Amino acid sequence: MNNYEHSVFLDVSKCIGCTTCLRHCPTEAIRIKDGHAVINEKRCIDCGECIRVCPKKAKKAKLSKLSEMDRFKWKIALPAPTLYGQFENMDDVDYILNGLLNIGFDDVFEVSTAAELVSAYTRVYLKNKNPQKPVISSACPVVIRLICLRYPSLADNIMPMLPPMEIAASLAREKAKKEHPELKDEEIGICFISPCPAKASYVKNGFGNYKSQVDVVVSISDIYFQLINAMSRNDEIKTILHSGMIGIGWASSGGEATALFNEAYLAADGIDNVNRVLDQIENGNIPELEFIELNACTGGCVGGVLTMQNPFIAKAKLQTLRRYLPVSQNFLSKEEEQAIPQSFFFDEIPSYYPISRLSESRSESMRMLSEIQKLRETLPGIDCGSCGAPNCRAFAEDVVRGNADLSGCIISHRSELLDFLKSKDESNDCK
Ligand code: SF4
Ligand code: SF4
Repeated sequence: MNNYEHSVFLDVSKCIGCTTCLRHCPTEAIRIKDGHAVINEKRCIDCGECIRVCPKKAKKAKLSKLSEMDRFKWKIALPAPTLYGQFENMDDVDYILNGLLNIGFDDVFEVSTAAELVSAYTRVYLKNKNPQKPVISSACPVVIRLICLRYPSLADNIMPMLPPMEIAASLAREKAKKEHPELKDEEIGICFISPCPAKASYVKNGFGNYKSQVDVVVSISDIYFQLINAMSRNDEIKTILHSGMIGIGWASSGGEATALFNEAYLAADGIDNVNRVLDQIENGNIPELEFIELNACTGGCVGGVLTMQNPFIAKAKLQTLRRYLPVSQNFLSKEEEQAIPQSFFFDEIPSYYPISRLSESRSESMRMLSEIQKLRETLPGIDCGSCGAPNCRAFAEDVVRGNADLSGCIISHRSELLDFLKSKDESNDCK
């Protein structure tokens, strides 16, 4: 956990300590210290909310540059389906896929192709494996990290299937080796084109004991203009698209769940809604459901912080593109339905530091909790953020953990000062 490599970082020189990010971070990972934001790496889930809200663009995502693919002899692009919804007047996905070849990739393997396979195998899994219900999708890395940090009791509900990006990476590598047996493994480079920083963190850190097959992650916003220039309509367009409505639907909230052809599902998007749903599942306060799709970004991956288009417009554009496509180009044969390949599964949920744990010792945790509650009652309760913590409860916790000083609360400090001055006045009057 301590070695977790994050993709979201702060450019201190740009931060004015305005507290905007502090109030929006879903895991209370940010504090203001010495006039600027500080991210607690143990709590950060790389959701990108702070990048979205920072008025000074001081929060940034650390992704690769496309030039990092130059070290590979055979370069494969893995476009996320969200990419297809970014362009004006686009009526054929193959223009985009051919554009990727024009900017230097040797092959393109759509993540939406892998998404259709994941949907098909998820249907088999739900039908035959009798998993713990509700099964929670493993596609959004922010949600998985949030569960591991805040809802460890729900870890067994996570679908143990690799996300489409990973399945696409291994299928793309297999295809390259088959078509070009002269290539060595290390000469094949796989580049995921990402809508969010969390996927880059996933690739850097792997997943449990699983090591990502993706070599480089670039953002949609980083290659957008280069790609527009390369999408010439005069070129002869090769047919590359090998996915249908289901695969492309994964870019928007509800796309994964509806592809299960099962009514007993719930799809929620936006980090606050995700937290609410996870709270309800944990409390057992949720109707009987087979499957839960959760996306940290509003609207699903189309709402990723590294995209170019408004998520609702992107969703509308994807709907137009999907209209004339088949439902899926990757249905399973009867034989394939008999067994899910082992390569589709991960076997270990990553274990993270539980952020709510106050101490390794249970009795010490109880003592600290009671101290936090007592201290909280003495604080003003207006969650002003001037102490550098997002709210009074978090400030009380910081004080009890020894990470902040009580004098940081200027409101309490001010009223103590006023009381002191008042008592001084009263004693002077008596004289
Ligand atoms: S939003 Fe956060 S990172 Fe941005 S300027 Fe304000 S305190 Fe600094
Ligand atoms: S990326 Fe998300 S979790 Fe991390 S500091 Fe920013 S808002 Fe908080």
